[in-house]
Amino acid sequence: MRKPFMAGNWKMNGTKSTAKEFIDNFSLSAELAEKRQVVICMPFTLLPFWSEYGGEKNPVIEIGAENVYPEPKGAYTGEISVDMLKDTGAAYCIIGHSERREYFSESDEFVNRKMNALLDGGIVPIVCVGETLEEREKGITQQVVGKQIAQSVIASAGEKDLSGIVVAYEPIWAIGTGKTATSEQAEEVCAFIRSELDRCISTAAADSIRILYGGSMKPANVDELMSKPNIDGGLVGGASLNAADFSRIAAFEE
Ligand code: PEP
Repeated sequence: MRKPFMAGNWKMNGTKSTAKEFIDNFSLSAELAEKRQVVICMPFTLLPFWSEYGGEKNPVIEIGAENVYPEPKGAYTGEISVDMLKDTGAAYCIIGHSERREYFSESDEFVNRKMNALLDGGIVPIVCVGETLEEREKGITQQVVGKQIAQSVIASAGEKDLSGIVVAYEPIWAIGTGKTATSEQAEEVCAFIRSELDRCISTAAADSIRILYGGSMKPANVDELMSKPNIDGGLVGGASLNAADFSRIAAFEE
């Protein structure tokens, strides 16, 4: 049984005061907190504060980063290593987000290096994949997502234990647009990803890897999306900035 996994992606938002407000206002019943994993991925600057204040005040929320550099240390001005992330208490890290692929030209190979470094350091990678609207309209969604999964994840099969990673399917046309994929569209691609993991890694890995849907997930659509068998959770941007909305998302109805 895969434990549902709800992760927020705060992107380049948040200061200590907004983080404090969120921590003070997010709530999940003790019963659901046992059954669900709740993570906020945040800017590096917030991690130490959240780890300390949030760890005391609202420990149901685990914390993650939004990026990492794959080298252990050295002359990489402005970058953050896996060990530095661990030092803050981060347990997860988003990699391969479409915004990083687009604005920072990050390739599948680079995403794969980051995934390997995170796995070596004991941080859970949340690997994002997804197609553009143009690619969907051309009918090549599976080709595009299949290649991303092959080069960023499956490339490490045999060398790394991939069973604990998290994959996020995020159709780019649905991110930050208010347009959500239908639950059928999301399920179809998540099922395809699982079949690729099964075919190219192992049935055990495919059964244990959580596959999330991301793209304008919100209180109004979470229950429907979460009713699908291959959608194990969500990667939530905009709606994760609001404690009441994210509380409702984490408390989706089964
Ligand atoms: C995201 O940033 O990963 C995302 C899915 O954003 P939003 O929920 O705002 O579409």
